[in-house]
Amino acid sequence: MPQPFSIAIHGGAGTILPSQMSPQLKQNILMALTQSVQAGAAILAQGGDALDAAVAAVKVMEDCPHFNAGKGSVLTHQEMVEMDASVMHGREMDAGAVAGVRHIRNPIELARDVMRDSNHVLLIGEGAEQFAFERDYSYTEQDYFFTERRYEQLQSMKERGLFALSESKYPDDKKYGTVGAVALDQQGNLAAATSTGGVTNKKYGRVGDTAVIGAGTFAQNGNVAVSTTGMGEYFLRKVVASDVAARMRYLKEDIHLACETIIQGELKQMGGEGGLIAVDSKGDIHFAMNSSGMYRASVDINGEVTVKIYADE
Ligand code: ASP
Repeated sequence: MPQPFSIAIHGGAGTILPSQMSPQLKQNILMALTQSVQAGAAILAQGGDALDAAVAAVKVMEDCPHFNAGKGSVLTHQEMVEMDASVMHGREMDAGAVAGVRHIRNPIELARDVMRDSNHVLLIGEGAEQFAFERDYSYTEQDYFFTERRYEQLQSMKERGLFALSESKYPDDKKYGTVGAVALDQQGNLAAATSTGGVTNKKYGRVGDTAVIGAGTFAQNGNVAVSTTGMGEYFLRKVVASDVAARMRYLKEDIHLACETIIQGELKQMGGEGGLIAVDSKGDIHFAMNSSGMYRASVDINGEVTVKIYADE
């Protein structure tokens, strides 16, 4: 009998308002989300590994300029792109992550290689890039990642002395544009992958939750896989992804209760706006958000495809 598989993805949560979304932009985003989730589902349907599926799904969004990861990443105070990414495989609880990389086209692949091919979990900056170039990654110029829209966002935040997110000029100005995927494969493996450009106007080598196993990314076979998006400073302190797993493991909460308790509970009270995606060992999927929207999509255990943007959909 075929074993169930399922996958969920996100392209970031935050203030996403229908009034500011043109039909064309909405269509482009829905199309990219669909391509992403289907890239991952195709691997799972062929019996592929959950992490390979999650990485394939994230890669599609890294390559798409509409999301804050890979091409289209937000800019730092110094007008650079600095990206963070992490992966976790639930079988052995193997993990890999990179932070502050500037010349790697797909940081999510590098995070997977850190997991598979180094004795470490987290590599940063130039060292992470050296590790990549020793493995035949090509050097990607900053120009590749740069988009006019991110440049204008940075200027508007600099003018107001803000870092991170601010009043909307673009439909997703107040959106945390990180991308992520969680998957259950036919062998029963759970995996999670998350990738981001971080927050606009960041300084001093700031790193958010996306690079940190347990905060932005977590996976444990027999339990759950989680990928988060939101203001990293809150998600780091609440170790959101591993907190979901702990509630399910120790309190025996189901995926829906565990995710909602965290996202709508203390995290929200602290001011931590954002959301997460999760899949459990039966393939049940949960999307949680305390913001007005989260770009998201899934293919469930019955093969049903769902693609949504707003919280009330
Ligand atoms: N969590 C990311 C960070 O703080 C931002 C995001 O989700 O867009 O770096």
